[in-house]
Amino acid sequence: MTGRRIVITGGAGFLGSHLCDALIGRGDQVVCVDDLSTGSLHNVAHLNGDDRFELVVADVSEAIGVVGHVDAVLHFASPASPPQYLERPLQTLAVGSEGTRRALILAAEHDARFLLASTSEVYGDPSVHPQPEDYRGNVNPIGPRSVYDEAKRFAEALTMAWHRAEGADVGIARIFNTYGPRLAPGDGRVVSNFLVQALAGRPLTVYGDGSQTRSLCFVTDEVAGLLALLDSELTGPVNVGNPDEISVLDLARTVIELTGSSSEIIHEPLPVDDPTRRCPDISLAREALGWEPVVSLAEGLRATADHLVHNFGVVTSDGRD
Ligand code: UDP
Repeated sequence: MTGRRIVITGGAGFLGSHLCDALIGRGDQVVCVDDLSTGSLHNVAHLNGDDRFELVVADVSEAIGVVGHVDAVLHFASPASPPQYLERPLQTLAVGSEGTRRALILAAEHDARFLLASTSEVYGDPSVHPQPEDYRGNVNPIGPRSVYDEAKRFAEALTMAWHRAEGADVGIARIFNTYGPRLAPGDGRVVSNFLVQALAGRPLTVYGDGSQTRSLCFVTDEVAGLLALLDSELTGPVNVGNPDEISVLDLARTVIELTGSSSEIIHEPLPVDDPTRRCPDISLAREALGWEPVVSLAEGLRATADHLVHNFGVVTSDGRD
C-alpha cells in the first residue's frame, strides 16, 4: 500500500504534518493542502525540497486546487484546539461542511479512499463511559463548542451519505486528545499549556476543579492508528485514541513532577460545555486494525517538553533553552 500519491488537507497542522512525515517515510508522495490559518510552514519546513512533497496553500472550504492523479484523500483541515475554533466559528463550520464536501468530490473523481478526521467531540459531554462507537453522544447543538462538534458530526453524516449513495470508499476516525512534538506553545490545548507553564515556572492553569478527565494519545501512536485505518477497508467510525484516562488535576501534577518544576497550580473558570469525562473504548480498533497505543504518558510528555524547549525557545525556569 505504498508508493501512492496522497492528499492531506490540513497537512501543515500538528497531526497533519506528522502524517506527511509518516507517509513520505514509507515511500508515498504527499500533497499537503493548507491555508496556514492554524497550521504552520514551520511544521513542514524540513520537507521542502523533497520531491515526494508538494505544498498547496489553499482554503479547502473555497477550493482544493490539486491537479493530477490522487490515490487517497485525508481530510484533516480544521482548527482543532478549543481556543482556535472558538476564535474561528464560521471557518470551522465551513471547513467541516463545504471543505468536507470538496474533499469527498476530489476523492470520488479519482476513485480514491477518503479518510475523515472526526473527533471524540462527536460524543459531547458523554453519559456513556468509556465511549464506544455506537454511543450517539450528548452535544449542545447551539453552545459555543457546537461549531466544532456539529461540523464534525455533519462531516461524518456527509461522508456516510457519499458512501451509501455513491459507493465512495471511506474511513472515519474519531480522534481523541492527541499530543506530542509540534504542538505550538500558544495552541491552547491542555498539554502544551501545562508544559509551557511548568517549564517557565509559571502557575499551571487548571480549569474548574480539575476533576474532568481526558485520555491522551501520543502522536506517533495516533498516526500509526490512522495509517492502519487508511490501509484497511474499514468504514468505521472507529475510535483512535489512548484509553488511559487521567484527571486534568492529576495531569497538572504529573507535568510538574516530570519537568521538576516549582510551579504552583491555580484554578480558572471551566469553559462552557467542557466535557466532564472522556475515554475511548478501542475494542474495534484493536480487533479490526490490530492497533493499540504503546507510548506511556511519561515518555510522551518528555518528548513533547524537549521539543518545546528546543524548537520554540521555551525558556525553562532554570535557564535552559
Ligand atoms: N484545560 C485546563 N487548563 C488549560 C487548558 C485546558 O484545565 O490551560 C482543561 C480543559 O478545560 C479540558 C481539558 O483540559 O477539560 C482538555 O482541554 P483541551 O483544550 O486540551 O481539549 P478538549 O479535550 O477540551 O477539546
